[in-house]
Amino acid sequence: MAVAVVIMLVDSHCHLDLIDLAPYQGDISQLLTQAHEAGVESMLCVSIDLESYPRMLGLVEGRRDVFVSVGVHPNDRDRHEPSPEALAELAAHPQNVAIGETGLDYFREDGDMRWQQERFRCHIRAAKLAGKPLIIHTREAREDTIRILKEEGADEVGGVLHCFTESWEMAQAGMALGFYVSFSGIVTFKNADELRDVARQVPLDRMLIETDSPYLAPVPHRGKPNEPKYVGKVCELIAELRGIEPEELARITRDNFYRLFAAATPPA
Ligand SMILES: [Zn+2]
Repeated sequence: MAVAVVIMLVDSHCHLDLIDLAPYQGDISQLLTQAHEAGVESMLCVSIDLESYPRMLGLVEGRRDVFVSVGVHPNDRDRHEPSPEALAELAAHPQNVAIGETGLDYFREDGDMRWQQERFRCHIRAAKLAGKPLIIHTREAREDTIRILKEEGADEVGGVLHCFTESWEMAQAGMALGFYVSFSGIVTFKNADELRDVARQVPLDRMLIETDSPYLAPVPHRGKPNEPKYVGKVCELIAELRGIEPEELARITRDNFYRLFAAATPPA
């Protein structure tokens, strides 16, 4: 008799508060039930600004299967600027496991980027104050991202280079500072050969998987709204690249998640 294999996935990066809940009658617990039915044990709901943070927290507060972060995304200049102390204070919430997302994005913004760099430094200082890891968004800003992580001593707290789309050299530089590398549904896209090459090389004990939902739905859902329940597609694709079973990659990336985000405990 065949033994049913139970897959246990973690979605290490999603934005639950940005997902349209209309298909679920506005009820997030229905969306989360579907994620559990797809093998998703827990997820990390990532903050993008302080204006939306209270609503985001309110949506998931008290749930054991959803962890949260706090931070201000680098893509929007016109946001309330945090202080390290204010972020660290918000990070004291019992569901909080990380600071972010933060980082540098020279693809979507241009001109004088000092404001972005200052905001990034603020988050690294907050992470050190809070003793929690960083969730890093980095796009077309390789040298400055690594330089600032080094200058601010981010290796003290570590973190993850999330939704990774950069080079193998960048991945190595991040890992040298103690960071993990997280792959999203982009790795399933037809034109992502270079990224798949990176996913073949990142040591398995440094790898995370994520949806970044509601963005970047993996193939075969590409172009549709993304949800945590699709993280299994990312898992299957990378498992195939690495020549291991999806269950094995799920187990490894789940272990990595709870090791990195030490304040997160698996829901009973
Ligand atoms: Zn994100």
